[in-house]
Amino acid sequence: MSVYVAFVAGLLGLVVGSFLNVVVYRVPRGESVVRPPSHCPRCSRPVRNRHNIPVAGWLMLRGRCADCGLPISVRYPLVELTTGLLFAAVAVRLGTVATLPAYLWFAGTGVALALIDLEVRRLPNAIVLPSYPVLAVLLAGAAAWQHDWWALVRAAIGAAALFAFYLSLVLVYPAGMGWGDVKLSGLVGGVLAFLSWQAFVVGAFAAFLLGAIVGIVVVASRRGGRRTALPFGPFMIGGVLLAVFAGAPLASWYSALAG
Ligand SMILES: [Zn+2]
Repeated sequence: MSVYVAFVAGLLGLVVGSFLNVVVYRVPRGESVVRPPSHCPRCSRPVRNRHNIPVAGWLMLRGRCADCGLPISVRYPLVELTTGLLFAAVAVRLGTVATLPAYLWFAGTGVALALIDLEVRRLPNAIVLPSYPVLAVLLAGAAAWQHDWWALVRAAIGAAALFAFYLSLVLVYPAGMGWGDVKLSGLVGGVLAFLSWQAFVVGAFAAFLLGAIVGIVVVASRRGGRRTALPFGPFMIGGVLLAVFAGAPLASWYSALAG
């Protein structure tokens, strides 16, 4: 993996992050992500092209609408910056161009889904369901490129297995998990198992580990009672990132815990 590919992935991430800001705002409201073009929610004036440049646009505006001065949340440039860094990091970590489209797709939709789930406690079908055919095609392309069809079979088995596991959780204990989590679980299982069985086990378990740790912190800091339901989508996506970036060290830590 050349520095050049990571750089291009990072730039792509900045642009995608800018689009994800639109997705995160509009998809839960049932609005189109293409029309109308970005505009100020107060004065309705369209955002000028130069102010649409990721991160730099917000800095040029000093965080305010150019027309009416309405403050623009720092979250917008932060999402752009985070997505850019995430894309570059995924490119470096994967070390191959073959699997890059699939994992960048998962990273991008993952950022959007995690933010929407935190905000409105939902994982919209409009993002989750189309990701099944998209990832199937991208992973099949990666398998063909790498002449590794077993990885694709593993992804299908992993998707079905994690989906079945989450489905049984929601059937046994409906209060603990949502249907959105079940629908997302197939994607999570697929992208994890495509990498390796080790990544699958590490990533699937990491979601529950992260959920438990954050749950304990939230209760201990008295920011919520024991009944405060945390959205689980961000932990599922965080689990995949942990498996991608720290799969091997986590695996040995798990086995040390178990042994
Ligand atoms: Zn304005």
